Amino acid sequence: MSLPPFRTPIKHCRNCGEAVAYRVPDDGDTRVRAVCPACDTIHYENPLNVVGTVPHWGDQVLLCKRNIEPRWGKWTLPAGFMELGESAAEGAARETDEEAGAKFEMGELLSVLSVPRVGQVHMYWLAKLLSDRFEPGTETIEARLFTEDEIPWDEIAFKTVYETLKCYFADRRAGRFAVHVIDIT
Ligand code: ZN
Repeated sequence: MSLPPFRTPIKHCRNCGEAVAYRVPDDGDTRVRAVCPACDTIHYENPLNVVGTVPHWGDQVLLCKRNIEPRWGKWTLPAGFMELGESAAEGAARETDEEAGAKFEMGELLSVLSVPRVGQVHMYWLAKLLSDRFEPGTETIEARLFTEDEIPWDEIAFKTVYETLKCYFADRRAGRFAVHVIDIT
């Protein structure tokens, strides 16, 4: 039996509260899942979506210094887990507002990054800043603008953010933006 290593195993059925067992369901499935022996509910676990933006101002981008674990003190783009009831772009805009307190207009999708090791898909949209004043929330120590040369590449919190920033500046130099689909292995 192999469980995804990055999730805490489910202990109890969310339908009836009985202790679940991890096994391959009897319906032709091929994967091990948490199955309730009392009410037969199968608890499917699927990747989570992380949504964010690349806020840009002239030749600069906005980065946030993380005030939360993991990677406390490292720099990131504003991003977070998508919530139920919102679209992906709405989630990206919400995170940008919450983490940076920025005024911006949403632009086109820039990157879609799969991270199978942690069961996540990350998506970043371009966001045109309307002001260079920010009011970072409690999850951010500092929000500030960086030119490409100023970016602390060794202090970027996540590979997905690093790759997205590289895509942004490459597209910017090329004078056209595209959607980049990347697997982080
Ligand atoms: Zn149950």
